[in-house]
Amino acid sequence: MRSLALANQKGGVGKTTTAVHLAHGLAIRGERVALFDLDPQGNATVSLQGLTAEEKPEFDPLRSVQPGLWLLGSPGAERTLDRHAGVDVEKLKVLSRELEESGFQWLIVDCPPRMDHWGWAGLQLCSEVIVPVQAEFFAMHGLSQMLSTLEQARRDFPGRGRLLGVLPTLVDWQEPVCQEVIEDLRSNLAGSVYENVILRDSHVVEASSHGQTVFSYNSMSKAAFCFVEWIREVVDGGP
Ligand code: ADP
Ligand code: MG
Repeated sequence: MRSLALANQKGGVGKTTTAVHLAHGLAIRGERVALFDLDPQGNATVSLQGLTAEEKPEFDPLRSVQPGLWLLGSPGAERTLDRHAGVDVEKLKVLSRELEESGFQWLIVDCPPRMDHWGWAGLQLCSEVIVPVQAEFFAMHGLSQMLSTLEQARRDFPGRGRLLGVLPTLVDWQEPVCQEVIEDLRSNLAGSVYENVILRDSHVVEASSHGQTVFSYNSMSKAAFCFVEWIREVVDGGP
């Protein structure tokens, strides 16, 4: 089973959007996928609420979202969590081993925008990390913070925290800064930035407000094409 965490300490860069689309897109390709929502805000859980479950017995405590796609929801999606609400990493490790043994091929983990208990839990559960980066002025700064966090993760948790790739998100080629930022990323991180980028597309926001992904909401949208192409790159072992 491949295990990928979507992480970046910066908020609003597209972690959750990338996590739910990667998970759903892989399931559409026929893979067996588990998505863990490890953000106490529960955005991934809420943004999949409109998808209907299969008529299958539950893989407790996961919820079946779509054929091949199972979600471990965040408790924060239903109620406001206590400031100190924790996460039981050992229990999640056991769960992920059980998933692997029962034939799951992918574990996708959506991390919160900070390295607290939840963020570290996400990195400990996954062997690889994808860092979504918004193509804007502060991108490089947020990214270098994240890269030093990954260095620390590799020291503290051997076999964890390997950077798989950096994914430019919310890309708008009309904005001059966007092109510049992506060129910068490619020259500073040669070989670690995906060929494909995710274009800014209002269908993404519309889809999530309906509790769906662009694959179910509008499969002909720009964003749907971007995600399909990028997921192919991930499956093929890129960047
Ligand atoms: P994070 O999880 O890093 O905080 P989100 O995935 O929640 O980021 O994205 C932040 C906001 O940007 C959300 O409102 C989301 O719907 C929107 N968004 C993300 N990706 C796109 C996109 N490709 N086009 C348009 N809006 C997007
Ligand atoms: Mg998020």
